[in-house]
Formats: sequence, C-alpha cells, structure tokens
Amino acid sequence: MRILITNDDGIHAPGLRALANVACRFGEVVVVAPDRERSACSHAMTMREPLRVNAVTYPGAKGYEVNGLPVDCVNVGLTIAFPGGCDLVLSGINNGPNLGFDITYSGTAAGAMEGTINGIRSIAVSMALLDYGQPIDYTLAEAWLGEHLGELVSHPLPPLSFWNVNVPNQEPVGYRYTTMGKRIYKDRVEMREDPWGRPYYWQGGTAVLTDHAPGTDVAAIMDGYVSVTPISLDWTDHASLQKLKS
Ligand code: MN
Repeated sequence: MRILITNDDGIHAPGLRALANVACRFGEVVVVAPDRERSACSHAMTMREPLRVNAVTYPGAKGYEVNGLPVDCVNVGLTIAFPGGCDLVLSGINNGPNLGFDITYSGTAAGAMEGTINGIRSIAVSMALLDYGQPIDYTLAEAWLGEHLGELVSHPLPPLSFWNVNVPNQEPVGYRYTTMGKRIYKDRVEMREDPWGRPYYWQGGTAVLTDHAPGTDVAAIMDGYVSVTPISLDWTDHASLQKLKS
C-alpha cells in the first residue's frame, strides 16, 4: 500500500512520527508535512506564494517539509512522491480532539478531506485529550490503528466520505462507529492588553461538551471509546432539499 501522511501540528510533531511508525507496517510511507504548526487552518490552501519543499530525514519513511498548510502538503505530496496516485492518505495524529464542530476548523481533517477530493481513501486521526496540557500517549492510537487500520482501509465507503478517528488518552474500552456531535466553546475570545495599553484579542476558549447524545463522537470519547465517524463531503441538506422540492 502507498501511504501519504500529513498533519497540521508540523513536521516535528510526535503524533506525526507515531502515525508514520504504525503506517510503515502497512506499506510504503511518505511524510509531507508543514514546516511548523498550522492548527485550525481548516481547508485553506496557499495560492499567492510559492511552496518550498525540503527533503528531511524521517524514521522509516521519506520525509518532506513544506512552507504550507495540510492541503498544500497533500497536493505537493501527490505531485512529488506519488504522481500515479496513492492508496491511502493519513492525517494526524493530532495533539487534541477533533470532535463535533472541531472538524470544521481542523487542519487535520482538511488533510483527509483533500485526500478524499483526490479520490483516495483518507483517515484523520486525533488524540482526544480533554484536559489541555496533560501529556499525550500516542502509543494508544498507534496500537489501535495497528489493529484496525486494515479494516478502515478495506471497509466500503462512498467516494466522498472519509474517516474521522478520535482516540481517548487512556486505554480505550473499545471502539464505536459514531455521528458527528456538537462541541461548543465558551469564552471563545479573550481581550488582553499589550504593554502599551492597547487591547488585543486571543481566540481559544474552553470546550463545553454539551452534546452527550448517545451515538455521537463526543459521547464515545466521554465513555472511553475510540470514536470512528464516517464524514461526507456532500454538505447538501438532503432532508431540506426534499421538503423544498415537494
Ligand atoms: Mn493540530
């Protein structure tokens, strides 16, 4: 299997290394990742500046760093490493959750989305650490993927769908196929003051997991399970469309 790996935490991220480590057991791996952290860049791409690519030494794989975003990395990676296409795009392992609405901001999910748009089976993987600042144990995701990556690759999915996988930061109880839940943040924007007394604003905020509805990604993580969500790039609201048509 020919596997292209990217992330949004940058080429030096331990999660990227963990993902490459487990992927090497499944085939030929090329890592193409941003040269620095680009979290929450969503599906942005670089168009008005050139992309520079440097080969880097990477354990067990060919590695390249790009002065761009995850989407750039997937497209550059396909161009330089797999011009004939590849079999799998992996993105992650993100150093935090991508649950519910997180995926609309996520550069990790965007890597998988770009793979999907290119017609390649794609998987976004995140460590769903809920207490920010705690150490992340990427070996938990490595172990789970080692057992289940094969079935995620071979499982039939519609062409516009990809997998969004979240792994809890403790030994998982098991895994669940889930729906995308809701994850709302409070105090999203903080006002602070610079040394000259001018206000500036910093976005972050604490997630308040309001939707524990059974079957959601959020509920699976709260219950200690790995969450596996099929996400579709068909954003059409088919139910509303049906009503409008009738
Ligand atoms: Mn990230």
